Amino acid sequence: MSSDQHLQEIRESVKAICDSYGEDYWRKLDQAQGYPTEFVKEITDSGFLGCLIPEAYGGAGLGLIEACTILEEISRSGGHPGAAHAQMYVMGSVLKHGSEEQKQKYLPAIANGELRLQSFGVTEPSTGTDTTSLKTTATRAQDHYKINGQKVWISRVQHSDLMVLLARTKSIEDRSSKTDGLSCFIVDLRGAEERGLTIRPIDAMINHHACELFFDDFEVPAANLLGEEHKGFRVVMDGMNAERILIGAECIGDARYFTDKATDYANSRIVFDRPIGQNQGISFPIATAYAQTEAAALMVEKAARLFDGGEACGPEANMAKMLAADASWKAGDTCLQTHGGFGISREYHIERKLRETRLYQIAPISTNLILSYLSEHVLGMPRSF
Ligand SMILES: Cc1cc2nc3c(=O)[nH]c(=O)nc-3n(C[C@H](O)[C@H](O)[C@H](O)COP(=O)(O)OP(=O)(O)OC[C@H]3O[C@@H](n4cnc5c(N)ncnc54)[C@H](O)[C@@H]3O)c2cc1C
Repeated sequence: MSSDQHLQEIRESVKAICDSYGEDYWRKLDQAQGYPTEFVKEITDSGFLGCLIPEAYGGAGLGLIEACTILEEISRSGGHPGAAHAQMYVMGSVLKHGSEEQKQKYLPAIANGELRLQSFGVTEPSTGTDTTSLKTTATRAQDHYKINGQKVWISRVQHSDLMVLLARTKSIEDRSSKTDGLSCFIVDLRGAEERGLTIRPIDAMINHHACELFFDDFEVPAANLLGEEHKGFRVVMDGMNAERILIGAECIGDARYFTDKATDYANSRIVFDRPIGQNQGISFPIATAYAQTEAAALMVEKAARLFDGGEACGPEANMAKMLAADASWKAGDTCLQTHGGFGISREYHIERKLRETRLYQIAPISTNLILSYLSEHVLGMPRSF
């Protein structure tokens, strides 16, 4: 079977699931700030969220290119893959850095959906993008670590059984480099609120289930250390390329959703006795968004294929995320403009999708930080911070 045919089959299977939910399903959840429990269950049971887990651990053993196709299709259908996408990639740090015992314990259960590993706790309110300055501490005491501190914007904590957490195991004064002294942990969230974790949902512009977390002498077994102590920054960094490429694919799905919708409306809406798409002031922005989306999609595909081939893909992963996020934002703005006043109505779904796709200018890494990475590490210009 050719690669194109194989991806097309995945696309059609995902679409069939998405079609049975529909855009009103997502609109109602957005309004009620609800979680798409049924959708996530179905997409998990179908094996799509475990697609990156090797067959030896119960997954489908597929590559990032297939994972990108799955998330793109959910976005393109009008859904919001942000509710579930992390189940695909957070496990990558267990797969790459976990002990064999950790892999056996967690990966098969993640693959079949018994365990949800959908949360990744890095960002803190006082340090933001400056990750290596984070302040949450993990202090070793006999057979466990005591966690104290605060995280912010941690997505899906209330819909996850496990979280990968980054915390400081060496003080800033004692560290040998900026990245030394941070460690990763697999945190069991079940019953965690009775053990010193306070979870406070954030009232936000999009329905992304993000929360503030407060750790007060919260104990994590030493056996849950992920990778080497003090070398957790590497663990986190290794997962970032996959996350950026997958988010890029979601943005391509959003952009295609917006362009299809704008085109249909431009062809069907009659004003001054002709379709509005006959006006180049309407058709040209849609055509521009289409061209930008197709260019960004090539970068997403290039990055995914490099990743799957085991090659370095930092520049491509970052460019893929940035170009795709720009394309989806541009396509969304164009789609809303094409719809005139109806674009503002919730009934047309565009305003929700536009809010959702706007996130990707900021998270998981902001556009400025990508430009700064490209300036310094790819083009060789001076470091700016
Ligand atoms: C809905 C949502 C879900 C999220 N989910 C998670 C999650 O699950 N886990 C997690 O750990 N985090 C999560 N985040 C956090 C996200 O990764 C951060 O918001 C993002 O990395 C930016 O950090 P910040 O918000 O602290 O911005 P800041 O670091 O305060 O930056 C503010 C602005 O200043 C700019 N800036 C800062 N420094 C520089 C510089 N040196 N040069 C140029 N510009 C600069 C930034 O680009 C940004 O535009 C989520 C955020 C949101 C909004």
